[in-house]
Amino acid sequence: MVRLPWNGQHWPGRWADGVPTFRFRDAPPGLVTRRQLRARDMCPGGVDWVAQIRWSRGRRWAALYRLDTAKQSPGATTAQLQALWKANRALRTCAACGQFTDYRLPASNGRRCWPCDQTTTPTDPTT
Ligand SMILES: [Zn+2]
Repeated sequence: MVRLPWNGQHWPGRWADGVPTFRFRDAPPGLVTRRQLRARDMCPGGVDWVAQIRWSRGRRWAALYRLDTAKQSPGATTAQLQALWKANRALRTCAACGQFTDYRLPASNGRRCWPCDQTTTPTDPTT
């Protein structure tokens, strides 16, 4: 359990690199990645990221920003963003569970999301 410094809430996670660290899809509500912020037409609003998620045994990570301190992005319009979002949708929809992810799914595993890839990878019969 870690105590979130900004609201005192306790959440399953650990403390790493000086920030609260969560497993993939385990982040507390109110925290979003940079991409999720952008999808909402928002920017961090000058506030640095406050936590991180780590997955792929710690090899991949993403910064998490507080949604409550984020600001509406003055840049791209929602229409532009939605066009982009649609173009990326096929690349980000899991072929196994149909869930929309906030990262691009690799064609090498048949475009499956991380949890699906973990649970449905066929076991090697030679091992
Ligand atoms: Zn999936």
